Amino acid sequence: TQFGFERVSESEKREKVQQVFDNVAQKYDIMNDLMTLGIHRLWKERLLRLMKPYPGTQLLDVAGGTGDIAFLFLDYIHSQREAQMHRDLKSWQNLSWLEISKSYQETGQDLLGGSHAVICDINPKMMTFGKKKAQQLGYTEGLSWVVGNAEELPFVDEKFDIYTVGFGIRNMAHIKQALQEAYRVLKPGGRFLCLEFSQVNNPLISRIYDLYSFQVIPVLGEVIAGDWKSYQYLVESIRLFPAQEEFKAMIEDAGFMKVNYHNLTSGIAAIHSGFKL
Ligand code: SAM
Repeated sequence: TQFGFERVSESEKREKVQQVFDNVAQKYDIMNDLMTLGIHRLWKERLLRLMKPYPGTQLLDVAGGTGDIAFLFLDYIHSQREAQMHRDLKSWQNLSWLEISKSYQETGQDLLGGSHAVICDINPKMMTFGKKKAQQLGYTEGLSWVVGNAEELPFVDEKFDIYTVGFGIRNMAHIKQALQEAYRVLKPGGRFLCLEFSQVNNPLISRIYDLYSFQVIPVLGEVIAGDWKSYQYLVESIRLFPAQEEFKAMIEDAGFMKVNYHNLTSGIAAIHSGFKL
């Protein structure tokens, strides 16, 4: 491969990954939309539909970058709470909407029902752009940002209900260690969910995808972000990541149960799920 990524040591990998995301941080969101033709949004929405968080859920989104998954999580909880308020409104017909919201506030039930998302990423620059985005989009509550390494998470044991990692685990130097850390910080009954590029299972799509990723993506990277090499790396790192079944076995090795996966867009991406029982 041109970037020679598979030959570098683990500490070099960490340095390169830091460098890559320093380089792409500013253009990360726009490049994500361009490179995946916006499809990453549908994949992230699918992740939320699988997750089905309930009000009160404590989420840890590792390698959270600019915050997309955490924002969708808050949207999901909001919509559930609003639906609940509408149901309450119907059953308490003599109360007005304002009175119901007031009664929610008085009983300490905010619109998120105590749900909280922690976004943890090793790269402060990515999170700086994420925080700006959160402000612009109005995500002010139920969110915190923590700089930290997935391989050595700065959290106590059994703190979270759900652990997510989206397009992040393939960049990690020690994937096994990251999986063990995921297991450690989840509560018993907690769920691990990983959205990652995977192995395409359709020969025709595979050919188009190869052409697109090796010929088009680095060019887009150069034109939009002035950075061919970082995007070359991103494409190569996808090819080096274990395929669906192999990754499933790694998740099981970390102690997770009921591990399964869902292919998205013919396996271009996949969501792996497992439970800490
Ligand atoms: N999850 C976001 C999304 O789906 O849009 C961002 C994904 S971005 C492709 C990958 C992120 O992984 C980067 O922000 C990078 O800094 C982060 N990352 C890489 N290695 C990491 C590690 N060891 N611990 C925590 N974050 C890491």
